[in-house]
Amino acid sequence: MNGLSEAERFLLDAVRRGDEQGWPQLVDRYQGRLLAFARSRVRSATDAEDLVQETFIGLLRGLERFRGDSSLETYLFSILRRRIIDSHRGKARAVCLLNDITGSGGGGDDSDPGPESRLPAPDPTASWYARRDEQHDAYRSVLAMAVGELVRGYKTSLNFRELKIIELLFYAQLKNAQVAQAVGVEDGHVATVKHRSLARIRKHLLDHAEGLSQSHIDPPDALLTEVWEGHRLSCPKRSTIGGYHLGTLEDAWTDYVDFHLNKLGCRFCLANLHDLQASDDQAQLDRVRQRILQSTVGFFKKS
Ligand SMILES: [Zn+2]
Repeated sequence: MNGLSEAERFLLDAVRRGDEQGWPQLVDRYQGRLLAFARSRVRSATDAEDLVQETFIGLLRGLERFRGDSSLETYLFSILRRRIIDSHRGKARAVCLLNDITGSGGGGDDSDPGPESRLPAPDPTASWYARRDEQHDAYRSVLAMAVGELVRGYKTSLNFRELKIIELLFYAQLKNAQVAQAVGVEDGHVATVKHRSLARIRKHLLDHAEGLSQSHIDPPDALLTEVWEGHRLSCPKRSTIGGYHLGTLEDAWTDYVDFHLNKLGCRFCLANLHDLQASDDQAQLDRVRQRILQSTVGFFKKS
């Protein structure tokens, strides 16, 4: 899910131009899935609505800074997630439901640098890989491309078993033994898949970036997780989740999407699924839409 789609670019351009239809269309398109995500993270429905409203305001405030290196949906989810963490400090860490059961999402394997160096994503604390400068941002982009390519390869070849394994390792941060149990393979096989995947990531990095230090060539697990979450590297498209919802996907994809939604429990994708399921809940959406549009009307009167 890297970069902006045509439709997203079109909507953003319309909003930036101050086109009257652009903003309501953008709100319509994303509010349902954001509300579903917020409702899964906070108890009160009112709080969830407030957070989504703040998310859209946050988008407008940062519109000039948004460069489009993630999809608009992913960008909105990241603003919302930050808002949720700010309002419920420390409780919104895990992106995958699975982490609530295993208590991981702070786990890792033998090569793990340990909890003290782990990121409370997406608010990185001080460490070399949390630096926010141009060079490190560029490195993150290359790393995201490297992992993205790996994931695409697994999807294209329908090698979903290996994809599940690296998702559990890098996205959900499970330990090797937990992954083996979840997928039903030997521990050794998990280690092999991890080794092979890291080797491919390393090769991509060496081919596409110059002057990398050893810590760049062998990124720590926490950074892989951060990049994975930040770019939602394995998340199925919304249209694929729609196909799953309607039962129109081929078997291999149905099994994988089912895993991603129900075993891994990706909250971003569950939010999309719940939004699709709740499309009949139009009354509430209309009400929230009205609130968002009213509270943001000032942004369009300036120019
Ligand atoms: Zn997902």
